[in-house]
Amino acid sequence: MIELRDIHKRFGDLEVLKGVSLQFVEGSVSALVGPSGGGKSTLLRCINLLETPTSGTVRIGDEALTFSPGLKAGWKNIQRLRRQTGMVFQNFQLFPHRTAKENVTEGLVTVLGWSREKANARAIELLEKVGLAHKADAWPSTLSGGQQQRVAIARALAPSPRVLLCDEPTSALDPELAEEVVEVLASLAREGTTMVMATHDLRLASRIAGEVAFLDGGLIVEQGTARSVFDQPQRERTKRFLASLAAASGAN
Ligand code: ADP
Ligand code: MG
Repeated sequence: MIELRDIHKRFGDLEVLKGVSLQFVEGSVSALVGPSGGGKSTLLRCINLLETPTSGTVRIGDEALTFSPGLKAGWKNIQRLRRQTGMVFQNFQLFPHRTAKENVTEGLVTVLGWSREKANARAIELLEKVGLAHKADAWPSTLSGGQQQRVAIARALAPSPRVLLCDEPTSALDPELAEEVVEVLASLAREGTTMVMATHDLRLASRIAGEVAFLDGGLIVEQGTARSVFDQPQRERTKRFLASLAAASGAN
């Protein structure tokens, strides 16, 4: 179980998260949706502590940390929590001077101290899972965006995190390449990978997310099963947002 309790995040005078509480059940896939600037990325980054919450509690499994202004969380504690997570970014962020396989092994060897041999075996297993074993020795620059994102997914999964965090994993991709990434995420979802993803790709969200939280202005406006939020939104704000997305995709 992953739990966020009353998370606030300020950047100077700007309060970007205004008290967000959410729970994610192990094995579930949850989508964070909402307008740009609503705080989705910041919220994901507060889960893996790339951003330090101003206040609130983050719990992943048995590891929990409570933040408050003026209280330093401690590097060790942050590391312990972060290691429960894997992150996939909109722009892949592969190491350009490492092959696909080396991108997956790098953290295992340098951070976790795995042997090269064990890390290589893990990398091949994961590249197979994302359909890229044949590209193990390819440089990122020779791969399509969809392939790069699949390597990034393999890398994020390498240390077997409790939760895979995905920030707009398909938004940098053309529809065709997005589709191959959606396929991979869908198969991970079927296998029971716990995922939290920020996305404005409603097709992705409705295809693989069981739960949806709609975030606007740093607050959860509405949450529930994907079906209830997408098909029968209760709040005016959610209805307007979904209508605007439908109009935009119709125009494409
Ligand atoms: P979303 O992912 O939903 O588009 P973000 O979490 O990226 O939203 O951003 C929410 C708000 O926080 C925006 O107003 C953004 O400008 C602001 N913000 C995000 N990161 C920072 C930062 N490091 N410093 C200052 N403001 C930030
Ligand atoms: Mg974002």
